[in-house]
Amino acid sequence: MNFKECAKEIEKDIIKWRRNLHQIPEIGLDLPQTSDYVQMRLKEMGIEYKTLVNGSAIVALIGEKNQGKTIALRADMDALPIKEETGVLYSSKNGNMHACGHDAHTAMLLGAAKILKDNEHLLKGTVKLLFQPGEEGFAGAKHMIEEGALESPKVDNIVGLHIGAPSKGVPDGKVIVNYGKTMTCLDKFYLKIKGIGAHGAYPELGVDPVTISAQVIGALQCIVSREKGGPEPAIITVGKINGGTAFNIIPEFIEMEGTARFVDQGLREQAAKRIGEISTGIAKAMRGDCEYEYEFGYPPLVNSKEITEKFIKSAQKIVGSENIIEMERPIMGGEDMAFFLQEVPGTFFFLASSEYDSEGNFISSHNPKFNISEDVLHIGTALFVQTVFDFLNM
Ligand SMILES: [Zn+2]
Ligand SMILES: [Zn+2]
Repeated sequence: MNFKECAKEIEKDIIKWRRNLHQIPEIGLDLPQTSDYVQMRLKEMGIEYKTLVNGSAIVALIGEKNQGKTIALRADMDALPIKEETGVLYSSKNGNMHACGHDAHTAMLLGAAKILKDNEHLLKGTVKLLFQPGEEGFAGAKHMIEEGALESPKVDNIVGLHIGAPSKGVPDGKVIVNYGKTMTCLDKFYLKIKGIGAHGAYPELGVDPVTISAQVIGALQCIVSREKGGPEPAIITVGKINGGTAFNIIPEFIEMEGTARFVDQGLREQAAKRIGEISTGIAKAMRGDCEYEYEFGYPPLVNSKEITEKFIKSAQKIVGSENIIEMERPIMGGEDMAFFLQEVPGTFFFLASSEYDSEGNFISSHNPKFNISEDVLHIGTALFVQTVFDFLNM
């Protein structure tokens, strides 16, 4: 069967769903309207489903239960607190915005649901559709896993996508794949450098946390530059520093927050330990003290080599091998699909979509002018469907 043609036949519906979702963007783990909209479409298609995460996540099933393998397809559905400035007729109606393209992911998965349901009698296994909330910092995938989204039936493999290429200038419709470490973890740390307040003219009577902080910030960069070998990507950023009240007062403390990004779990654990050791060590050496917290956020996103190779064979049937690009290096952003991929081998790929506005300016995701190319939506749907058939029936 030619699934690209099947998807092209329902392209108008996919675009309509995407535009409807685009107008009702919701944030975090609470997506009542979005979830209702998706549930309505699933009902119309006659697809069985249940909800998780207080009704904001949906797990739908298609195919022969208790027979063959189970493959999951995942789409995130949440939006961002950004005021839309695209000027399109179907702009957001509520002050939030689908500025990351998750409306497109949801619509592409609904398209796949339709084609898979129409051809259910041909499936030799089960497809589980995972519509998730809270990708943008709320770990929605983790919540779904904790509520059993990957169980009964147990998921063997999982596939998900993000619209937009991870680098600039990739033509629309190209499929970007990666065999292993693909995206970084998304961790956060907090430091409170403690001193003793004093008059700015008499530093010998206090302990200056500002001076200590300056040493700490410089030294933290040595974790990446001096304690790590090879090309393994790593970033430690102090993004926030706060303290002090006046030019002539040595404050009691300075607070700092930062982010750490790694694709290697070992490096991640090493940095979590070393940021604390270095900060506390310097603070103590300079007569102060340090409080330290490290928050392990989204894990690194790691694709299965075997599943990625299988996916590429399916993708070749839809877009041709000339339109499949292998990523040169991992990207430094995080994604909560990583939680699913920690549990189940699978692959997460990118589908390139226009990054330029009508005047030719580059517009990145999370920008108020962000939009996608709707011409690629049916390709995403076809990639999902072809992958399912190849995984279950071959
Ligand atoms: Zn995003
Ligand atoms: Zn996103």
